[in-house]
Amino acid sequence: MSFADTPTMLIKNARIDGHPVDLRIDHTVQVMARHLEVAPNETVLDARGGELLPGLHDHHIHLFAAAAAHDSVDCNVGSGTLSQCRALLEARLKRATGNDWIRGVDYQEQQVGELDRWILDELCPTRPVRIQHRSGKVWVCNSLALRELGFKDTELIDGLERSSRGLLTGRIVRRDRLLAERLKHAKASRRPNITAYSRQLARYGIVGITDTSASNTTDTLADFQHLSDVGELLQHFSLMGSDELDSGYLKILLDEDRLPDLANLVGRINQARRKGRNVAFHCVTHLELVFALAALAEAAPCEAGFDRIEHGAVVNDEMAHRLADLGLPVITQPGFLFSKGDQYLADLTRTELGSLYRFAGLQRLGVCVVASSDAPYGLVNPWRVISSAATRRTRLGATVGEHEQITAEQALTGYLTPSVRLNQRSSFAQARKVKVGMPADLCVLQGEWSAQRGEAGELEVRATLIGGSVVFDRTQTG
Ligand SMILES: [Zn+2]
Repeated sequence: MSFADTPTMLIKNARIDGHPVDLRIDHTVQVMARHLEVAPNETVLDARGGELLPGLHDHHIHLFAAAAAHDSVDCNVGSGTLSQCRALLEARLKRATGNDWIRGVDYQEQQVGELDRWILDELCPTRPVRIQHRSGKVWVCNSLALRELGFKDTELIDGLERSSRGLLTGRIVRRDRLLAERLKHAKASRRPNITAYSRQLARYGIVGITDTSASNTTDTLADFQHLSDVGELLQHFSLMGSDELDSGYLKILLDEDRLPDLANLVGRINQARRKGRNVAFHCVTHLELVFALAALAEAAPCEAGFDRIEHGAVVNDEMAHRLADLGLPVITQPGFLFSKGDQYLADLTRTELGSLYRFAGLQRLGVCVVASSDAPYGLVNPWRVISSAATRRTRLGATVGEHEQITAEQALTGYLTPSVRLNQRSSFAQARKVKVGMPADLCVLQGEWSAQRGEAGELEVRATLIGGSVVFDRTQTG
């Protein structure tokens, strides 16, 4: 294709591994050279000596929840006594904008105690409130919210916790789909602002996401497609989800307190296999991982592609060997070491800490490990996740599992690896590199990588391009 046919853009003064490079692109990378002259009518993006990388892919994120969290009440009130923390939470709920439903996220029992409807009624009696625990597993509703959602004390519904007197406590465990349906019915589901969140991802250099929500259905897939078609969602996307989907991973949530019936689970896996789907297990404890591998051993083998372990928060050497033998990658979240690390250090034994969110140790045993965000539950900023993987430093500056530290490059590699290659051991070889012919999904950093890798958490992106379109330009947004 000649330059006359398709408008092209020239990216000037970029650097790749210390070498200066200019790049001519349309929707793909056309030419790369040390120096290129500007063609007539060609737009120019001056990289100002910034490192040129392929755009980043977040392999584990929950888009709608993350966008909703973006405009929810932050219930993480920091340290203090129980009554101080509750007073802070009460003040934040009072300040919440609007006059209808309040959605809160990231409450922690270490701060405000275990919440239930009666405590929330005291903190906020005038508006329906629902607040999510930091784990994402539990929502707590106040009495007004329960009423609006049509949940009655007389009705027995799985996942709705009850007091010893048989009353609903307002705590709803792992019933996000049911909750979403009821919210829709109560006309309380404000659609989250995807545009703003997608732009935020672009600011970080993210050009693709894998939405790992177990509740995703064919309707969700249609929603994603629509958001993409109308330009609200800028990033490429792929979805995992429920049994109903015909493609993408079947996401299986395991919870060691309520493990599913093994035969039933094997049936679900086999049904997914018949559709050519692979499975991804949410595993945060040793028992959950043991159970996941037991289910895989009984199920029909996976004929194409590979299955995945999400989080892999606790993996001992024995399990690591098995994961390596099975070629199962671990999609981990080093960002939790920063955000929850101090709590882990206080709560866990030395042995437990040794198996926690491992990285280098698993790689040494042959497991493919990939860093991701798990936003909104984990840090979404990939540069801070990368920094967490390298330093393993907590918010208060302690270090968790020093021997599991990896280099910033190794952490970045996962973000540059296409989803279909996540199981391949030699991850450096699998990462995308900028080359002629690839889609122009690019990330230009402010400055060179080699100069900033030590402070990767502070790194800023100069510009992000998806399919040759500039979706973020720092010089335009200030
Ligand atoms: Zn997740």
